[in-house]
Amino acid sequence: MAKRQYAIIGMGRFGSSVATALTDMGFDVLAIDSNEQRIQEISNIVTHAVSANSTDEEAMRALGIRNFEVVVVAIGQDIQSSILTTLILKDLGIPTLIVKAQNELHGKVLNKIGADKVIFPERDMGLRVAHHLTSPNILDYIELSDDYSIVEMKTSDKMIGKNLKDLDVRARYGCNVMAIKTGTKMNISPNANDPLDKDDVLIILGQKDDLVKLELEFS
Ligand code: ADP
Repeated sequence: MAKRQYAIIGMGRFGSSVATALTDMGFDVLAIDSNEQRIQEISNIVTHAVSANSTDEEAMRALGIRNFEVVVVAIGQDIQSSILTTLILKDLGIPTLIVKAQNELHGKVLNKIGADKVIFPERDMGLRVAHHLTSPNILDYIELSDDYSIVEMKTSDKMIGKNLKDLDVRARYGCNVMAIKTGTKMNISPNANDPLDKDDVLIILGQKDDLVKLELEFS
């Protein structure tokens, strides 16, 4: 099977870390930025690095951007360029277009003009840090929708030695423990009677308000 190719436009902090991570994972990455220096900095890392203006449709065609299955638009500050680039790439028929948004309004516009996935890296990281700060047992926090999230929670002293039946999170908080990680092992159908160990990690799905109550109760 042919290796999947990714094009990343905008080599700011976010774009360059996506490009570097994909390269480390063994994928072919085309990095594009209008800033020569940014291109020079990333050129030793990714497969191809090209200096071009992504709001120039002809330049994008000439780069063969249409052959890329996935394109990530990581232009943050310059919202106008981000929107124009998204429109052009959408018109060119890129199958999967992922675009970083600077704020909610920018995100709404990107959704309207056909971005397949709009991401808010700063907002999402801010949420994760906030949850980790309120409860150090929270290792990760992933927002699924306006109402629902998933948290990864390390067992606290109040949980160790108890089992899921004792904790009764479904009845008390309406949340679901979907899996329990023990070291590198992931148990996706946890037994309600098994006692929880010190370094176990619970993967819990629930409504945001309920998850906050649960976090506070158990930390
Ligand atoms: P971050 O917040 O992730 O650091 P920035 O908005 O600071 O993101 O960086 C975005 C990058 O996108 C910059 O390197 C900038 O040169 C590049 N960029 C902005 N507009 C265009 C464009 N029209 N074509 C190509 N690259 C662009």
